[in-house]
Amino acid sequence: MPALAWTLPTLRKAWNQAKGEVAPWWRDCSKEAYGSGIADLAAALNAWSTSKQGRRAGPRVGFPRFKARRRDRGRVRFHTGTMRLEADRRHVLLPVIGKLRSKESTRRLERLVTKGRARVLSMTLSEHGDRLFVSVTTIVAHTPRGPREPQGRCGIDLGIGAEWAVIAHADDTIERVAHPAPWATERLQRRRAARQTSRRIVGSRGHRQARAKLAALDRRAANLRREAIHTLTTRLARRYGVIVVEDLDVAAMGRAMGRRAFRRSVYQAGIGRVRPILAYKTSWAGGRLAVADRWFTSSKTHHGCGGYCAGLGLADRRWICPNCGELVNRNANAARNLRDWTGPVRDRDVQRGGVAAPVPFVGDHGGQARAAAWACEASQDHREVAEANDTGTNPPTPRVRNPEQGYQAQ
Ligand SMILES: [Zn+2]
Repeated sequence: MPALAWTLPTLRKAWNQAKGEVAPWWRDCSKEAYGSGIADLAAALNAWSTSKQGRRAGPRVGFPRFKARRRDRGRVRFHTGTMRLEADRRHVLLPVIGKLRSKESTRRLERLVTKGRARVLSMTLSEHGDRLFVSVTTIVAHTPRGPREPQGRCGIDLGIGAEWAVIAHADDTIERVAHPAPWATERLQRRRAARQTSRRIVGSRGHRQARAKLAALDRRAANLRREAIHTLTTRLARRYGVIVVEDLDVAAMGRAMGRRAFRRSVYQAGIGRVRPILAYKTSWAGGRLAVADRWFTSSKTHHGCGGYCAGLGLADRRWICPNCGELVNRNANAARNLRDWTGPVRDRDVQRGGVAAPVPFVGDHGGQARAAAWACEASQDHREVAEANDTGTNPPTPRVRNPEQGYQAQ
């Protein structure tokens, strides 16, 4: 087989030429099932080659791996065809698959779409354990409202103990936010479920059930954590003109610091996720995120008097200032120091205006035009397939053959 260029059009063309032979059943599935797989492969190959050539930031990217159907989660991304959020705000319509009842109300997004302030670009259906998720990619036109206190500043000290986040507000009040997913209680439950799993015979129904239980526990913890991070960051971004956080090297914390329990709680607390989320939310809200220098001693310097406590251990919650003799609360003091930090902003995330920040959609698209554009008609081949096997709300069984298999240029 001749070598192929690793681009989306070439790979797609090769697939279209070969699908009749290698996958005569291709008509049974939506063409998007193959299309999104090929697009992801092209993206992965591109990431690998740019990373190899040193043209890509971030950690090194390996060569894409073959994914077995049973081990990888099923997913398909729809770009074309009839897809919409139904007006009852409880159903999502997808091409080929049909209408799906959503567990969560789609109100917030549906309202934006109906008003013409958002346009649906694609919908991705994916399996997570025994659940199906639809994620909707949209362009949202939003008018930046300034933060409520444009001159106000706040500092956030993130930690891994019971006090997950300590916030020093502009009016000098201290807010303490408890850990989003109480790790201690959850660990016991998780341990029990894990032990159950390991005692059951692999492949048996009991093993499957125990594994599902474990997955449910993990999912719950992740959801609680995400919820806490988003509510905190949204609240602060809407209120303050400037938010100051520490430059935490979370990866290094997880790697370097002794005890396994400590490293585990570093990741468990999700503190590495706060900064990138704040970076885009502050820019959306019209505020600014400042990241204090990595060497700024926010914990060891007494706010106000400037006394420095050299021998401060990780576990010390309080210390006595050697300069003025006052008893200092470690986290509150660190948050105050961060709030009043004035230094150069050298953070990459901040300068770029956020890691994952979508560009605000300010264009000449009138609301009506966009509302009409996204409710596009199904193309002919979709309608045929939809009639042939309309599976209702059953999860699709994408027997997508990985295009890597047999099409990889050798
Ligand atoms: Zn002092």
